This record gives sequence, structure tokens and C-alpha cells, in this order.
Amino acid sequence: MSAFSDKNGVLHAEDIPLPRLAGEYGTPAYVYSADGIRKAVRGLQAAFEKTLPAPAQPLIAFACKANSNIAVLKLMAGMGLGADVVSGGEMERALAATIPANRIVYSGVGKSAREIRDALERGIYQFNVESAPELERIATLAAAAGTIAPVALRFNPDVEAGTHAKITTGREDNKFGLPYGEVKRLYAFAAGHAWLNPVGLSMHIGSQLTSLLPYREAFGRMAALTKALRADGMSIGRLDLGGGIGVTYQDESPLSLEDYAGLVRDIILPLDARIMLEPGRLLVAESGMLLTRVEYLKQTDNRRYVILDAGMNDLMRPALYDAWHTVRPVIRRPGETSACDIVGPVCETGDTFALGRPLPPLEEGDLVALMTAGAYGFAMASTYNTRPLPPEILVDGDRIAIIRQRGSVQDILKDETIPAWLD
Ligand SMILES: *Cc1c(COP(=O)(O)O)cnc(C)c1O
Repeated sequence: MSAFSDKNGVLHAEDIPLPRLAGEYGTPAYVYSADGIRKAVRGLQAAFEKTLPAPAQPLIAFACKANSNIAVLKLMAGMGLGADVVSGGEMERALAATIPANRIVYSGVGKSAREIRDALERGIYQFNVESAPELERIATLAAAAGTIAPVALRFNPDVEAGTHAKITTGREDNKFGLPYGEVKRLYAFAAGHAWLNPVGLSMHIGSQLTSLLPYREAFGRMAALTKALRADGMSIGRLDLGGGIGVTYQDESPLSLEDYAGLVRDIILPLDARIMLEPGRLLVAESGMLLTRVEYLKQTDNRRYVILDAGMNDLMRPALYDAWHTVRPVIRRPGETSACDIVGPVCETGDTFALGRPLPPLEEGDLVALMTAGAYGFAMASTYNTRPLPPEILVDGDRIAIIRQRGSVQDILKDETIPAWLD
């Protein structure tokens, strides 16, 4: 079964026609396919099962920030996945979804003291450490708590990921990770510290990668660093290779998962460490869409605008990264295509989903799907313009679950107060 497919001229999520979801739950709404997510997870697992021996199978820690709904995380938990979290909030989500603490990796450049204390108390599997002051802070808090902190040092391999500047993370000149020399110094510091347990290295070079080359280069550098640290007497038990595997939004040809696993077998497996992965986008992007309705058609002298009821606050990727999302009418009207600018209702020029996109005829009230929105879609949504958050709907065969209710204006206003002295 395909996550989203056309049946008799009507776009479906698995067995459910989208007009039915729109009718019952309104628009805009995120719609996810459980089967699509399961297939993506199985695809990655299968590539490694084929390529690596059974005892060397990686721990797959789903990068929750891509889609952190607890129902999605529960689906991941049921397939044996761990989680990569970047905040105390995400850690609580992963735990709420029954992902055990010993499968949760804590990443991020700005871990607060409180987040570190909570993660220690919960028995987190490892902190991926990004700076010397962070390592010192973890050491101090671990000593105070009387708990030994498992730490992996995030190594910045300084490779060009060939992806959008706002999602590249493995260059020397961005805020992520530690350079080679710094890793050696800090690893030795951690090894000599009573409250730190240096368990290995981690890296994450960027997102939406469609070529193996940056991985090949980065894995090679990680292997060299592992050998150098071991030569200094350090013990490296885990190698966390990060995430970043890309998907098809438009016409990208994604890298082959078997080739990726082959690279891991050739470069990382011989190092005899526990292999860990942190995929986010790969596991959820193609299994989600944003279902919207056409509010207005607006024709100016030279442009045809399609104004949707979804805006950049609901799906931020086009405004943030100039990202492409396929725009698909749920029911295709017959007739010639014409170039349309697909925009939202938010008062920003950046609130544009697509420019000059050829689309078949549309009318007010028509349903339109913004495809491939399962990753960094709802997770980045905001209430900008005081627009309530959209609901999230999970379809599984012919089953429908509202895994997050639509927000309301009361929700937004309830945390605000007018000081008495303004009255
Ligand atoms: C965002 C992130 C990931 C996931 O990246 P994807 O491109 O979604 O696979 C993995 N690890 C870290 C540390 C991240 O920040």
C-alpha cells in the first residue's frame, strides 16, 4: 500500500479518501500514514540486516525533532527504535512514548543545567557533547548528582555536505561539534574524570544529503580519529554516525540505503564499536502531508494566486529554506494547467509555498495537499498571526486517529495576562 495514492481520481491516505478527513476534521490538517512510516523504518533496518552481521546491527535513534508527536514516537518504539533528542521536552516525549532511557541520545549545542540534571536522573544512554564548557558543566552536575555521565564527543569532520546552507552542520565554520584537536584533548580530560565516562564519538554532518560522498569522507575522518584516540590509550565503544539521509521532495535522486550501509560496513564496522544512527527526515518525510483548502483565487495582471487556508506558520520549510513541496489537488479537475503562485494567509511575503507552479484548474473550496510534509512540518509549526495549530491525523489502513487536536484561540490566549496596572 502506498502512503498516499490516487484511487478513482481521489487522493487517499492509505484506505481513507482525503475529502472525508477534511469534512470530519477540517483544514488545514497534517495527515500521516502509519504504513508509510513503518515501511521507511523497515527499509533502513533491512538495508543494514543485509549488510552487517547480526551482532553489529546499529541502534537507530530516531531524531525526534523531525516529527515528535508521541503517537509517531510510539510507532518507532514498537519497531525497536531509540530516540535522538535535542531538548528536555523531547526527552519527555520519547519517554512518554515508552522509548527506554537507555536508547535515548541527547544532542544539541545548548543543553541547560536543568536539562542535563533531568537527563542524568532519567539514565540517558549518552550525551553527545558539543563544546568544552558543556563537558565541564556535565562533569560538575554529574559529580553533584553522584551519577557517572556517559558522554560521546561530537566530532566536526569539516566536510561539505552539499546541502542547503541552513541545514549543513559539518563544516568547521558552523556552531556544531568539536574540531579534531579539541576532541583529543577533551576525550583525555573525560577519561581522567571520576564522573565522566567517555563512551565514544558522534557526528552529524547535515540534513537532506543525497550523495554518499560527504559520508565517505566524514566516516574516513571518524575512523582516523578513532584509531588516533585508541593509540593514545582511549577506549572508544560507540560510534554515532548521525542522520541526514535525504528524501525526494521534487526530483532529487536519494542515495541508496544499501550503499550507505555498505559504506558503514567498509569504514566503520572494522572499528568494532557499537554503531548508532540518528535518522529523522528519512523515516517520516514522505509519510506526511498538509491537507489544505483553497480560500480564494486572485488574479492580477500577470499572476494567478491560489490562497490556501494553510500558511507559513503551519508549514515553515518553504519560507525558511526555499523548500519545494509538491502541490497536489485532491481531486484533479479536467483542463489545462496554468502557472500559479501558491500562498498562505499570513501577512508576510515569505508566506509562499510555490511560485509559478503549473497546476490544473482550481476553484474556491477545493482541497489541495502539500506533499512530503511529514518531517519538519508540524514540528516547526507556530501560532504566528494567532493562528491555532493544525491537528495531526494518523491513518493506518482504514483506521483514523486524531493524534493531536486542533488548537484554539482560547489555547493561545490562556497563557497571557494583562497586568492590573494597565487596567
Ligand atoms: C537534526 C539532527 C538529526 C536528524 O537529521 P535528519 O536530516 O532529519 O536525518 C540527527 N542528529 C542530529 C544531531 C540532529 O541535529
